[in-house]
Amino acid sequence: MAPTTKQNNQKVTISFDDTATAFRYKTDRELLLSWFIFSLTKSPFLVKFLSQAAKKALDLGLPIKKIIKSTVFKQFCGGENRKEYLQVIEKLGRSQIGTILDYSVEGGNNEESFERTKDELIKIINEAQSNENIPCTCMKMTAIGAVSLFEAVTSGAVLSENKTRAFQRIRDRLDMICHAARLSGKPIYIDAEESWVQGAMDRLAEEMMAKYNRGKAVVFTTLQLYRWDRIDYFSRLITKAGKDGYILGVKFVRGAYLEKERERAARMGYPSPVNDTKQKTDDLYNTAIKMFIENIDRVELCLGTHNEYSCKLLAGYMAEKNIPNNHPHIYFSQLYGMSDNISFNLAKAGYNVSKYLPFGPVEATLPYLARRAEENTAIAGQMGKELEAIVKERRRRKTVGQQSCR
Ligand SMILES: Cc1cc2nc3c(=O)[nH]c(=O)nc-3n(C[C@H](O)[C@H](O)[C@H](O)COP(=O)(O)OP(=O)(O)OC[C@H]3O[C@@H](n4cnc5c(N)ncnc54)[C@H](O)[C@@H]3O)c2cc1C
Repeated sequence: MAPTTKQNNQKVTISFDDTATAFRYKTDRELLLSWFIFSLTKSPFLVKFLSQAAKKALDLGLPIKKIIKSTVFKQFCGGENRKEYLQVIEKLGRSQIGTILDYSVEGGNNEESFERTKDELIKIINEAQSNENIPCTCMKMTAIGAVSLFEAVTSGAVLSENKTRAFQRIRDRLDMICHAARLSGKPIYIDAEESWVQGAMDRLAEEMMAKYNRGKAVVFTTLQLYRWDRIDYFSRLITKAGKDGYILGVKFVRGAYLEKERERAARMGYPSPVNDTKQKTDDLYNTAIKMFIENIDRVELCLGTHNEYSCKLLAGYMAEKNIPNNHPHIYFSQLYGMSDNISFNLAKAGYNVSKYLPFGPVEATLPYLARRAEENTAIAGQMGKELEAIVKERRRRKTVGQQSCR
């Protein structure tokens, strides 16, 4: 996508046009598969239809798992088990790209499943400790606690005794996870979710940062810059971390629940918490990058985006201030299966880069895959960009093939 904010006159230090580097890890066949998938996701109607049909077919026990696994699952997920995802991690590692294992089982909403997820997350953290290609891990708070409880705490409701205890159990699980991350020496990114549950999550993330981010950021909170209140919040976080003597860990994203946020606000009659234009979101995202650079000594950042302009903006500030490309306070991150032109070219230039890699049984990752496809159709221009890079690389390979046959 063309930069949506006016280019400033900073030195542009990196190009994302080198498709040979971007797709070096894909065979011709795999590239053809990517082309096919991104061509399909161009149609919102088809995406909706196929997502629903896949879920129905799996529910009915129809044998389509193999088809999903060898197509869309292969494009966006690391595998169903450890053996499978280790191969992907190793492949990305060869290009100096780290992997953030994303346990994407979106299962039960009860204490037993929250405990299971906590145990699974600690296993992943232990895996990260011994694998140099896994620089950190990530988690969703709603995987270790009930959505309704996060919502109640965010709204400021008075909790019953039972609910107070349940919220304490969430805090205990989170504490065990962050403690394990601290021991492993690898940070943990806490994902941001919908605004009506985020307040409680922010509070817990701040508690954990104050406890574990001594001298180095172990716990990272996530800021969604499609929310117009997040720049103020970022500013308050910087002040608080400075005052309390810990390093702030933040992941910047634009935000994944735009329509849901607007729909709920309209339905319930409160002002929408998200910006009314994409330009405003872009401006706030880029303002946050500038604020980070000004506070780089006391903030660590993961820049989670597929937006080329934002990545170039950060790289530009780094060059301007003589900050080394591999500065330990800066990671660029994209989702597996997307924006390889950004990830692989940044890694080749020596920046710290990682990819979120979801894994789990095919059935359990379906909601993630459907979101991926739907989000992609909703992002104006993103699909065009992915397809454009793939078409360019396929053409390049054909030309190189023809030349070498002569
Ligand atoms: C590594 C990584 C981690 C992530 N973690 C999270 C997370 O924890 N929580 C989360 O919510 N999301 C997360 N995301 C998803 C992210 O929020 C975006 O949905 C996605 O990355 C697209 O934004 P972009 O910056 O890549 O690209 P762009 O294509 O430049 O931006 C698209 C985004 O702009 C915003 N936008 C689009 N249209 C409008 C409009 N009309 N008005 C206002 N804003 C608009 C939306 O946020 C949309 O997703 C993550 C993404 C990555 C790459």
